[in-house]
Amino acid sequence: MLRIALSKGRIFKETLPLLAQAGIKPLESPETSRKLILPTNQKDVELVIIRATDVPTYVEHGGADVGVAGKDVLLEYDSNELYEPVDLKIAQCKLMVAGDPNKVIKQQRLRIATKFVNVARSYFASKGEQVEIIKLYGSMELAPLVGMADRIVDVVDTGNTLRANGLEPMEHIADISSRLVVNKAAMKMKYQQVKLLIEQVATAVG
Ligand code: AMP
Repeated sequence: MLRIALSKGRIFKETLPLLAQAGIKPLESPETSRKLILPTNQKDVELVIIRATDVPTYVEHGGADVGVAGKDVLLEYDSNELYEPVDLKIAQCKLMVAGDPNKVIKQQRLRIATKFVNVARSYFASKGEQVEIIKLYGSMELAPLVGMADRIVDVVDTGNTLRANGLEPMEHIADISSRLVVNKAAMKMKYQQVKLLIEQVATAVG
């Protein structure tokens, strides 16, 4: 059995056509099914539907053999234990520092609100800047509006959400897209099956 970890929403929708090119089609939709394990048309392939931030954990610990995760999630997870053989070029966006450039900052250390605490810490450390990181789980844009933070680190696509909240993209940290990730043991133990999937998905990406 080859188990593939996916998250609901954008990644699931954009990964489906790539899996279809590899001959893999789920028999149910995660949007309508309550099942966490979805069988596919191939009896030795199943999908597990989990939170995006849990995908690297499942794949690293063998809960799934393969997964699809955003580079933002992978940078934050920061593991040497995952192979990352294919850039799927889906769910593209940018990881950025954003804020209100006109706002005067009084205190010495910038306060950075983000769910990407590791990425933010190492980004500002690489610039030699000491910052205070405030961990949030969502709606980062709110933190500067209520005076809780000076900047946010978040993924940005069009920038419309930022601008709607009086913020602007300020510094580019990384280009983001979703990646196929593979468990190291599965790469050895299920070599033929995994290799074929990697090749077919890579061909589908083009
Ligand atoms: P934007 O187009 O910049 O207004 O993006 C809208 C929201 O969608 C932002 O607040 C981001 O958090 C989120 N977002 C944009 N692109 C992605 C992506 N590729 N993956 C995950 N979240 C995203």
